[in-house]
Amino acid sequence: MWLDRISTDPDGMELKPLRLNFAQVCLWCGRRWCGAPECVAAHAASTWVVCPACDGFEMIDCLCNGGLVEAGPGLVAAQRGRVLPVTAAPAEVATVSGPGPETA
Ligand SMILES: [Zn+2]
Ligand SMILES: [Zn+2]
Repeated sequence: MWLDRISTDPDGMELKPLRLNFAQVCLWCGRRWCGAPECVAAHAASTWVVCPACDGFEMIDCLCNGGLVEAGPGLVAAQRGRVLPVTAAPAEVATVSGPGPETA
């Protein structure tokens, strides 16, 4: 599904990272291939919003999880209906394309 512009709450769409990351490491306990019921339950109960620091563009020094941050009900409510930018702000783009590892 791709939309040009979304809010954090278009018709109840839930934003949540995968409990196991792409390398199959659990977000909650740090163990690979975790199937612990407490982790599953914690993940199911958690709520997330688009990262207020990077707007989900995962800037180099941002500590968010795939562009999301875990948030309590208050922040989730505060973020409801927030219109998200389609592209990163110019200053943030410059940060990403700045000096980095050499590209061969
Ligand atoms: Zn786990
Ligand atoms: Zn972020």
